Amino acid sequence: MTAKLISGVEIARQIREELKGETGRLKEKCKVTPGLVTILVGQNPASMSYVTAKQKAAREIGFHSVQENQPETMTEYELLALIERYNRDPKIHGILVQLPLPRHINETKVLYAIDPKKDVDGFHPLNVGKMVIGEADYLPCTPAGIQQLLIRSGVKTDGAEVVIVGRSNIVGKPIANILLQKKPGANATVTICHTGTKEMASHTRRADILIVAAGRPRSITADMVKEGAVVIDVGVNRIGKTPDGKALLCGDVDFDAVKEKAGMITPVPGGVGPMTITMLMMNTLKAAKLAAGIESR
Ligand code: NAP
Repeated sequence: MTAKLISGVEIARQIREELKGETGRLKEKCKVTPGLVTILVGQNPASMSYVTAKQKAAREIGFHSVQENQPETMTEYELLALIERYNRDPKIHGILVQLPLPRHINETKVLYAIDPKKDVDGFHPLNVGKMVIGEADYLPCTPAGIQQLLIRSGVKTDGAEVVIVGRSNIVGKPIANILLQKKPGANATVTICHTGTKEMASHTRRADILIVAAGRPRSITADMVKEGAVVIDVGVNRIGKTPDGKALLCGDVDFDAVKEKAGMITPVPGGVGPMTITMLMMNTLKAAKLAAGIESR
């Protein structure tokens, strides 16, 4: 059997079209233009390309978009002051600080400084807490994207055995929290594996839905997957360069072998990746609506 491909590119395109339509209506009827600022400190090439892609998506949807490119030498104090300026700017509804930050800047302090109402990445502890109790305004982008991939591919999560490999604060823990809520598109039985897990394959083989976010290239092999399972590969591993000099990527799943056993699978690239930016746009639109009182908390 060859698994059905879950195309993040296609699903992200559909959602962005919906967001474009909603943004147009918001501008026309309510005179509100969602505003997003992306703050990049330094010149990390991967971060630069992520920020550029986020700004491009924001412009295409019709947002007011501001890109702050700051030098590597920016101090923590200066960054906190910049965030405070955007916290007070009524034209800006979403603030995204691209991570990682240079070593001399305390990431936690910076994330805590963003007004939780403008925290469209969903990393502020207030928003993390609201997510855990099922009252989130903004779900963190990559896990929210995974949930959308499942919903829009018709995957039934209600009562499903979900196994997640990885317990990071940006992917593993939040997707576990999201999928165990007693809500549509969730209500699953969730297990999280990590480096302390014994006999990981005994868990992954039970999964109706296997979500892998370990950052270990092709480490999930076909013998670790149940026949017919839905496999979501979050991993992005740079394993070399293409002949035209671009980064050659692979996921955490041995795609060629696992696709012969799984029922559905996401590719890398073109799976979870395009969804992350799309969810940032969805959160920014929501932030604008909340600020304008069009939607309530
Ligand atoms: P991370 O912070 O490095 O966390 C990795 C997690 O995987 C940790 O909890 C670690 O366990 C666990 N792990 C690592 N090796 C393992 C193994 N052999 N067996 C079991 N568990 C193992 O990574 P992350 O930020 O969550 O990212 C994970 C991957 O997703 C990376 O490839 C990253 O590039 C990718 N990613 C993609 C997107 C996207 O938009 N597509 C977004 C975010 C991340 P311990 O806690 O025990 O160390």
